[in-house]
Amino acid sequence: PEEAELEALQHADVRLLLPVPTGESDKYRRGVVGIAAGSARYPGAAVLAVYGALRGGAGAVRYVGPAGDAVIARFPETLVSDRGPKHAGRVQAWVVGPGAGDDASAVGEVLASDVPVLIDADGLRLADRDAVRARTAPTLMTPHAGEAAALLGVPREEVEGARLASARELAGRYGATVLLKGSTTLVADAGGGAVRVNPTGTAWLATAGSGDVLSGLAGSLLASGLSALDAGSVGAYLHGLAGRFAADGAPVGAHDVAEAVPAAWRDVR
Ligand code: AMP
Ligand code: MG
Repeated sequence: PEEAELEALQHADVRLLLPVPTGESDKYRRGVVGIAAGSARYPGAAVLAVYGALRGGAGAVRYVGPAGDAVIARFPETLVSDRGPKHAGRVQAWVVGPGAGDDASAVGEVLASDVPVLIDADGLRLADRDAVRARTAPTLMTPHAGEAAALLGVPREEVEGARLASARELAGRYGATVLLKGSTTLVADAGGGAVRVNPTGTAWLATAGSGDVLSGLAGSLLASGLSALDAGSVGAYLHGLAGRFAADGAPVGAHDVAEAVPAAWRDVR
């Protein structure tokens, strides 16, 4: 009975969802993705989230936070500011949380915005549930099993043993789309319906920073206009495929995964 509630993501479906620019496109119409991530302690998370976002199809990536120097040194095309999200120019979607440490203010500002938001990592812990529930724009949460367990207040093993139910329960509690990461990633919408299953991953993706790349990638897709369900699904699909291409049977770092996203994209197109 569980199988009927699951929908495996397929190449052909993902192809139709890829945001491909046309003659009428300009960088703003392609979408601006805002990344509110990183901290003095974890600047690399900001760099990796921006890296993923640059590979996701948005027309521009805007970074706000304390890791701007590290970001701009690696990616000169990023629009960088050290002020909070509410002072940033227009963005079409926010990614908040990777490497954020204990700075709750950026999370609060982003949740108060009227654009789609992806919440990952520290952001999941810092996000106020009522503030998430009160949002009218789409919200995509991207926990791994440990983060999902903390949100649900249960041991990690309980989530591992009931991944489908856990993703659904979280989506219901927060009124948000939930992407539960793992060896197979699940994407569940708040309103119920079939849960998407991503088949493309590889165990080589179990490496530090891997999730930060996914957050930027899926956030970029969100900024280009995909729904939270589609952005999470396409993001997980491309991320998994990029991991396979980058690794090809050998260890990789998270930055290698971001570098391989264009190859994944070409394979899907
Ligand atoms: P994070 O824990 O936030 O760094 O995210 C880890 C990323 O790697 C997620 O996209 C997971 O789905 C992926 N991942 C972790 N472990 C595995 C595994 N054993 N097989 C496939 N993908 C994995
Ligand atoms: Mg993570």
